[in-house]
Amino acid sequence: MVPPARRVRRTPPEGVRAGLGRPGARPGALSIRRSQRVWLFDLDNTLHDASHAAFGPTNLAMTEYMVEHLSLTHQGASELRQHYWNHYGATLLGLVRHHGVKASHFLEQTHRLPGLEQRLRSSAHDRAALVRLRGRKYILTNAPRAYALRVLNTLGLAACFDGVLSIEDMTVFGHLRPKPDARMFRHVAARLKARLSDCVLVEDTLEHQKAAHGLGMRTVWMQRYLEGRFRGAPWAATNGIANNGRNRREVGVHPCRKPPYVYAKIKSIHTLLTL
Ligand SMILES: [Mg+2]
Repeated sequence: MVPPARRVRRTPPEGVRAGLGRPGARPGALSIRRSQRVWLFDLDNTLHDASHAAFGPTNLAMTEYMVEHLSLTHQGASELRQHYWNHYGATLLGLVRHHGVKASHFLEQTHRLPGLEQRLRSSAHDRAALVRLRGRKYILTNAPRAYALRVLNTLGLAACFDGVLSIEDMTVFGHLRPKPDARMFRHVAARLKARLSDCVLVEDTLEHQKAAHGLGMRTVWMQRYLEGRFRGAPWAATNGIANNGRNRREVGVHPCRKPPYVYAKIKSIHTLLTL
């Protein structure tokens, strides 16, 4: 006689168990209780089209600043700005480290951006999705606070967030540590009283996601505002000089299938509601 089969109670993957993942989703991916999630949203080219609204004039202003204060030619200043951007992820960091530039002066002088409000555009769908998204929500941007608030207020997004963490908040033990600095990510999580594993970084810049993932954060890659060559094709080298804000090398250095440190690629904030 064949004994009756024992009923084995299978334990579903963590995300499904907690009602957090879709069937078939990668086990463990974004398996954070919705109410517990701490969303860290980048600003430029994540929540609005900064290549259209801000990058060109900002880059020009930075180059002019370097010409005036470092006594460089325009070409020399442009090349150095690009070099610091590529190397440090922020031009400011190179100027502070190597030229003794005062951060607040540089930020104030280079982010005046007349007419910015008229160039800003976002999506009503994104705004609605941000309102519905559960968990705590913060802006985490390498841009200055005044600029971030100006963008958020103009786009009607300010009320969607619990706070704004800008480059002024990225000083750790007296040193400026913008994204993708790991010490800054830890510092931010501690300040928000959040576990790193509860944080979800939503970004267009892969270098930042790679660092965050290495600390145990979840990462989501926003692609809406990236140019086609950064979404699906390997980066093609450019001379890095003729930069009108579109030479986003820090993004494009990666052949852009979804890297292993990215949980999801999205083109709309609305998709976050499904993760
Ligand atoms: Mg960005």
